[in-house]
Amino acid sequence: MTTTLVIGPYTDTDTAAAKQAFAPVILDRISELAGLDETTRSAITALAYKGHTAVGPAEMDLLPKLGLIANYGVGYDAIDIPAATERGIRVTNTPDVLNDDVADLAVGMLLMQMREMEQASNWARSGNWKTRGEYRLAHRMTGGRAGIVGLGRIGREIADRLAAFKMDIHYYARSEKQTPGWTFHADPVSLAHAVDFLVIAIVGGPDTEKFVSKDVIDALGPRGVVVNISRGTTVDEAALLDALEQGRIAGAGLDVFLGEPDIDPCFYELSNVVIQPHHGSGTVETRAAMGQLQRDNIAAFHAGQPLLTAVN
Ligand code: NAP
Repeated sequence: MTTTLVIGPYTDTDTAAAKQAFAPVILDRISELAGLDETTRSAITALAYKGHTAVGPAEMDLLPKLGLIANYGVGYDAIDIPAATERGIRVTNTPDVLNDDVADLAVGMLLMQMREMEQASNWARSGNWKTRGEYRLAHRMTGGRAGIVGLGRIGREIADRLAAFKMDIHYYARSEKQTPGWTFHADPVSLAHAVDFLVIAIVGGPDTEKFVSKDVIDALGPRGVVVNISRGTTVDEAALLDALEQGRIAGAGLDVFLGEPDIDPCFYELSNVVIQPHHGSGTVETRAAMGQLQRDNIAAFHAGQPLLTAVN
């Protein structure tokens, strides 16, 4: 009887590798779990999960022998960790292998926003360059003051990249870190006051909901830019939209949104927002590494070996 269940939209390569390694039951989405017959569900001990839909007590209880949820992604806010722990279910994630790509996208969005690259490209493509002349002047990114909200694995990669752009680096974390002279702020409002660009890289979930509040956004000021690669939940999105619409901040670069992919359509109307479809880790190379790490955790679990990247 198959003991591994794979849920989510995987690449053909990942699906083939999972089939070869575990001969799993495969579902497209977590909502299909209840439709599996009881005999199949009762045999499952490991779940490979890829998705942002919640996996809570109800889903866990449909799999009475479940011992592992191997999440595809470093952010595991979709999984109810206390409920898993209570049931003796271990959870793993895929940290580190995606740091570079997510950091690249954060810096890319900031550069796109500051240099108005999307609008300038449209200016050239539409023929305006030929008929109306040069595109208007944008603003410099290099040498600005950057504030990283959450100096974890990804936050540090972002800070390193922005330091190479000759920026003065400030950061918020719950505790001060060893850094090459970067400035620690114990409070995100103080951080926002000190910088031009605020890049959000904290974990998602209930503890950090609206961590970047209206007060933080207001502290950034009218030349400020918000970049978010963490989760839509970490920002007060209504306050961010108000600030963008009213020009109380200059712009934003956003890879993550509340309710994605069905995001607030107000974002589409704003020319001062760079929108990306939550693909910070979306390269062939990184996604392959994430799939491999997820499978390695499942293999370790089935073999009774220590998990490689345990969350609980
Ligand atoms: P990490 O190494 O665990 O760093 C997380 C940071 O969040 C740390 O600085 C941590 O502070 C801070 N933090 C944790 N809990 C907090 C709390 N309750 N209040 C305030 N700050 C808190 O995580 P990571 O690997 O850098 O990943 C960060 C997040 O990026 C993920 O959780 C995920 O949501 C997101 N992500 C997005 C994409 C994308 O495609 N856009 C891809 C990958 C990850 P301390 O340093 O004080 O512990």
